[in-house]
Amino acid sequence: MTGSDQECIFCRIVRGEIPSERVYENELVLAFRDIEPAAPTHVLIIPKEHIASVSHLVEDDKALAGELLLAAGLVALQEGLLENGYRVATNTGEWGGQSVDHLHLHLLGGRQLGTLG
Ligand code: AMP
Repeated sequence: MTGSDQECIFCRIVRGEIPSERVYENELVLAFRDIEPAAPTHVLIIPKEHIASVSHLVEDDKALAGELLLAAGLVALQEGLLENGYRVATNTGEWGGQSVDHLHLHLLGGRQLGTLG
C-alpha cells in the first residue's frame, strides 16, 4: 500500500475504516451513497484499487473502467432510475471540480437535473 492509498478517504471506505452506506460491490468496484447528496439518489461508484482519476487510467484498466460503468447501470436499476433517467458524471482535476483524488463516478437521479457546466 502506498502512502496515498493509506490516507485516501475512499481507500479507507473500501477497507471499512470509514463507515459508508454500501449499495453495491463486487471484486473490483464499490458503490456507496454520497455523504452530501446533490439529488434524491446520489451514489458514488469507485474502483477498489486506488486510481486517482480518469486521467490516471492505463491500458490495463480497460476491464475495470467497464466494470465502473456497468456498476453504475446496475445501481441505477436497483434505485429505480431507469424510467425517468439519470446522470453518470466524473469530475477530473481542479477545473473539473474533483475534490477527492480517487476516481469516482457520480450517479445522480430522482429529480430533473440541470444542464452541465
Ligand atoms: P468530487 O467533488 O467530484 O471529487 O466528489 C467527491 C464526493 O465525495 C462529494 O460529492 C462528497 O460529498 C463525497 N464524499 C466525501 N467524503 C465522503 C464520505 N466519507 N462518504 C461519502 N461520500 C463522501
